[in-house]
Amino acid sequence: MTADKSNKPGAPRLTIGDNADLPPRLEDWHLGPLESYKPTPTRAQRIRALRWPAAGRRQAIRDKLAAYSIAHPETGCAIWTGGTSGSGKGGNYPRMCLDGATVAAHRAAWINENGMIPPRKQIDHKCRNRLCVNPDHLELVTHRENMRRRDAALAEQRRTP
Ligand SMILES: [Zn+2]
Repeated sequence: MTADKSNKPGAPRLTIGDNADLPPRLEDWHLGPLESYKPTPTRAQRIRALRWPAAGRRQAIRDKLAAYSIAHPETGCAIWTGGTSGSGKGGNYPRMCLDGATVAAHRAAWINENGMIPPRKQIDHKCRNRLCVNPDHLELVTHRENMRRRDAALAEQRRTP
């Protein structure tokens, strides 16, 4: 939970203020399977969350994502260097701190550029790198499609050890 190094110097500090809107739905920034990462937004946060992030805040989120990631020279992946969801099932996904809540950084990256994630949709890493937070490598898919791609990638891994 506290793996996020939000006090690292150089990273923009994001706080809730009059001009700092939250994403359309706060829960959209959280990854389903990890209940421990579920936010407990206040009523004021929920009201703010109905609005699209202001341009300045969206840039601040981009800056924070950039401050914690390294661009891979060949794949173009933005490899997350901050905290993660740990190992095991549902593990190895990037985590970042926004407004004091720990959120899934790749979901935050997608929402910041595209808007809220519709119900029953998931964010898939087209690059198959869970730590990547490059919005261009992320795609909105159904759970079924996400699982199909995961299984195809696993089968490919087994063929080429
Ligand atoms: Zn990538």
